[in-house]
Amino acid sequence: MSKSTPTKYIFVTGGVASSLGKGIISASLAKLLQARGYSVTIQKLDPYLNIDPGTLNPYEHGECYVTEDGAETDLDLGHYERFLNIETSQANNVTTGRIYQSVISKERKGEYLGKTVQVIPHITNEIKDHIQILGNTGEYDFVITEIGGTVGDIESLPFIEAIRQLKWENHEAVLFIHLTLIPYLAASGELKTKPTQHSVKTLLEYGVQPDILVCRTEHPLNKEIRTKVARFCNVELEAVIESIDAKTIYEVPLLMQQEKLDEVVLKHLKMPLNSTADLTKWNEFLYNFKNPIQEVEIGLVGKYVELKDSYKSITEAFIHAGAFNKCKVKLRWISSDKLTEENISQELKGLDGVLVAPGFGTRGIEGKIEAVRFARENKIPFLGICLGMQCAVIEYARNVLGLEGAHTVEIKASTKHPVIDIMQDQKNIENMGGTMRLGAYPCQLKEDSTAFKVYGKENIQERHRHRYEFNDAYLSQFEKNGMIATGVNPGNNLVEIVEVKNHPWFVGVQFHPEYKSTVVNPHPLFVGFVQAAVKR
Ligand code: GLN
Repeated sequence: MSKSTPTKYIFVTGGVASSLGKGIISASLAKLLQARGYSVTIQKLDPYLNIDPGTLNPYEHGECYVTEDGAETDLDLGHYERFLNIETSQANNVTTGRIYQSVISKERKGEYLGKTVQVIPHITNEIKDHIQILGNTGEYDFVITEIGGTVGDIESLPFIEAIRQLKWENHEAVLFIHLTLIPYLAASGELKTKPTQHSVKTLLEYGVQPDILVCRTEHPLNKEIRTKVARFCNVELEAVIESIDAKTIYEVPLLMQQEKLDEVVLKHLKMPLNSTADLTKWNEFLYNFKNPIQEVEIGLVGKYVELKDSYKSITEAFIHAGAFNKCKVKLRWISSDKLTEENISQELKGLDGVLVAPGFGTRGIEGKIEAVRFARENKIPFLGICLGMQCAVIEYARNVLGLEGAHTVEIKASTKHPVIDIMQDQKNIENMGGTMRLGAYPCQLKEDSTAFKVYGKENIQERHRHRYEFNDAYLSQFEKNGMIATGVNPGNNLVEIVEVKNHPWFVGVQFHPEYKSTVVNPHPLFVGFVQAAVKR
C-alpha cells in the first residue's frame, strides 16, 4: 500500500523489570502491520551516554549490530531487520550521548542565540527531532520507537517527556504501548497486577497515559485479571494484551496476532484494518524450524561464549539457514580461551561444522587458530567471520606456508610475517569510536568458487566492521599453496573472502554475513555452510 496519511508514531516503553523483550514486541507489532500492507520502521532510543555501542564490550551490551550505512547499533536493530526484512540506518538508533553531542555542538556554533541551554526544552526538542527524522522521510505509515530502559529510571526521563510532548502536539498520530510484567507467585499460585499498576502510575506522574498494555506472563491471563489491569490502569479491556512466554521469539508475532494487538493499534489510530495480516512465508519458516528432518552440530568458537547475546546475529542466522534446510542446527559453544593443541580434538569432536567468530584483541586468539587448523586438517566445513577469517589466514601461513610466527599486527606488531596488516587509512586514527571500516562495501566473486556457488552471482555487497586486512604482499604465496582469494573489493582489491582448495567447504570472510540474514532471506553463506555440514 502506498502511504496516504501522515506517519503515525507508536512508542513502546517498558516497566517493572528490564529484559521483558520490548524489541521483540516492537518487531512483532511491526511485522503484523507490515503484513497488512503498511510500511513500517522501528527505531530504538537508548538512554546511555555512549555515542553508540561501538566502543562497548559485548559483556556490557551484547553484540554490536552494524547497518548498511555503517552505524554501530544496539542489537535490537538486528531483530527489526530480521523480522521485517528491511534495512535500518543511522537514524534508527539514537543514544542520549548522541543527543547531547548534537546539542552541545549547536551551542558551540552559537545556534541557540545566547539562550541558556537546558534539558528542557533543548534536549527534549533534539529528541523529538530525532524521533521525527524517519517519519519526515514520507516513507513510512508507522514509526515504532522503542525506548530503552525501564520507566522510572532517571536517565530515560527526557525521552518520556519528549514523547509526552509529541502526543500533546499531535494527539491523533501518537500511541503509547507499555510493556509490563505480571509476575506469578508460585507459593500462592497467583498472578499479581500490583507492579503493573505502580509502573503505570509512574508513567502517569510524567503525564503519559498508556493506550495499550502488553503484559508479559508465564501463565494465561483470565478475564478477571485483564479487567483488573484495565480498570486500575485506565485502559480499555481489549487493550490489555497477554504476552505469554514463547518457545521462540519467532512465535511472538503469531501470539500478538491472536491477542489482536495490531487491530487494537489500528483502531486507536483510526487506520483502516486492510486485509488480515498475510503471514504465509513466516508460517512456512516456523513450520520448517519446528519440524526439522535432520540435525547438525556446529561449534561456535569465540571468546564471549558465556554471554550468548554477544553472537546474536550469528545464532539467528543459523536458525534461518537451518529452517531453510529443514535442519536443526545445534550449537556447541566453545570458549577459544580454553582450546589448546592438546585438547582440541576432544573439544571439537563429532562436530559437523566449525565457525570461528569475529572479535578483537589477544585473548583466545591461539585457541581460534587451533580450531581453524583442526577444521582444515580434518576436512570439517569451516566458516571464519572477520577475525575468524584472519585466524584462518594466520593458521595457513604458519602451518602450510611455513611462515613461522605469522600473525596479525593487531596482536603482534613486531611479527616477522604480518599476513594480516592494518589498513592504510586506519594508520593515523586516534579516536576509537566509529572509526573502523564500517558498513556495506561491494565485493566481486571469482567464478568457480564456493562463494560464487552459494551466492549464485558475481557481485555482492556485505557489511564490515574491522581495522585490519589481508596483506596483499603475501597473496601470490597463499594462492600458489592452495588458499585462494575468491572475493575482492573491486575498487581497492582488498581481500574479502579466502577459500582453501582441497577441502569440502572452507570459507573465511572479512565481512559479517550474519547481519544480513533475515527470516524470509536466510543468508546464502549460512545456508551453504549448513548444507555442507549436513553433507558431512
Ligand atoms: N579485530 C579485527 C579487525 O579489527 C577483526 C574485527 C572483527 O572481527 N569484527 O580487523
